[in-house]
Amino acid sequence: MENQKDKLPRCADCTIEKTICRNEDGQGPGYCPTLNMSGAVENAIEEYKRPDIHQFALNATIQEGECYVNRGKDNPHVQYAVKPGFQETIELAHKMGYKRLGLAFCGGLRHEAKIVSDILKEQGFEVASVMCKVGRTSKEYLGVKEEQKCNPGRYESMCSPIAQAKVLNEAKTDFNILLGLCVGHDSLMMRYSEALCTVLVAKDRVTGHNPLAAIQLYRSYYKKLKEEKFRKGGAVQVSVKENG
Ligand code: SF4
Repeated sequence: MENQKDKLPRCADCTIEKTICRNEDGQGPGYCPTLNMSGAVENAIEEYKRPDIHQFALNATIQEGECYVNRGKDNPHVQYAVKPGFQETIELAHKMGYKRLGLAFCGGLRHEAKIVSDILKEQGFEVASVMCKVGRTSKEYLGVKEEQKCNPGRYESMCSPIAQAKVLNEAKTDFNILLGLCVGHDSLMMRYSEALCTVLVAKDRVTGHNPLAAIQLYRSYYKKLKEEKFRKGGAVQVSVKENG
């Protein structure tokens, strides 16, 4: 890339009506990766030739289409999505012929994990599940200071996503489902998992695990997302003064 900054891929900023990535005679802006990064695209195309990857990508793409009704008929089918994400996960796993699924979940969602596990069993899978605190490794092992714990002054097991991955690797799961792992812990789980992973639930302690809620409300209740600079974050103090 001759001018790195101008060519940085920025699909999120693209306002082209008829885009090159969807139309043979379409166009792209100066920062368009379809136009500027053919090396990466060609590399990716080669990866899809690997039999295991090809099979997975093919089924994931078929699954995508099956989530709409009346395809090819007169309805604007994208307005009629019919399958919740969990159903998609189940169907994709069956399409792939997977028998044993891994469920890596957060302790804060253990009730939901039980429901998810029971449903997966009802759907014909064997389920290996593992909670984030597995192994009871102290947060001190990582060098977390007392005041950096959730409950300073008390023992706390760290979330151990690498252990979650290794437990599921040892259980030889075919496919791993992540349920509400903390940001960063999910990254490590995905890095160390031998099986491909999917995220069923993205953690968000404030919005009932729906991060989009805050994004959609960025003009009102979550103005701070644009107006404040959070930098590296830090401890939060709250006090409420009672009326009367
Ligand atoms: S690939 Fe190019 S045309 Fe397509 S959205 Fe990205 S910038 Fe726009």
